Amino acid sequence: VAGRMSVPRASSPAARRRMKSTRQRDTICEVTLRSAIHRTGLRFRIQWQIPGTRRRADVAFPSKKVVVFVDGCFWHMCPQHATWPKANEQWWRDKLMRNVERDRDTDALLESRGWLVLRFWEHDDMLQAAKKVAAVIAQRSETHLCTRNASRR
Ligand SMILES: [Zn+2]
Repeated sequence: VAGRMSVPRASSPAARRRMKSTRQRDTICEVTLRSAIHRTGLRFRIQWQIPGTRRRADVAFPSKKVVVFVDGCFWHMCPQHATWPKANEQWWRDKLMRNVERDRDTDALLESRGWLVLRFWEHDDMLQAAKKVAAVIAQRSETHLCTRNASRR
């Protein structure tokens, strides 16, 4: 997600290195979660485009109406690890606040369409996250099955 955003020129080589490692960490978390979910036997779509928007979900189960996001602690302002870069401070403040607003807006949009949104932080244990996803999918499957059976009567 972070990779598509335009950002001001890094203020120093150290800042540039920090940005780069932040992005790499985001990607690594996403891939780790994806392979952990895959190992549970579930199949899913990656970088799934939310219909009618230009936004994408990291992992999606369209038939179950479940989407999963892995939010980077920096880009999505994790309560434990959020930091404000000192250079271009106001620009970053606005940028990061907009990211968070967009996240909540995406959640509201999906939920209004009957989707279930699961969000994890980059600092979360991705194996635990995958277990949570698998449990939620199993639960959704049962619910859907019951609904179908009920409507058949
Ligand atoms: Zn965090």
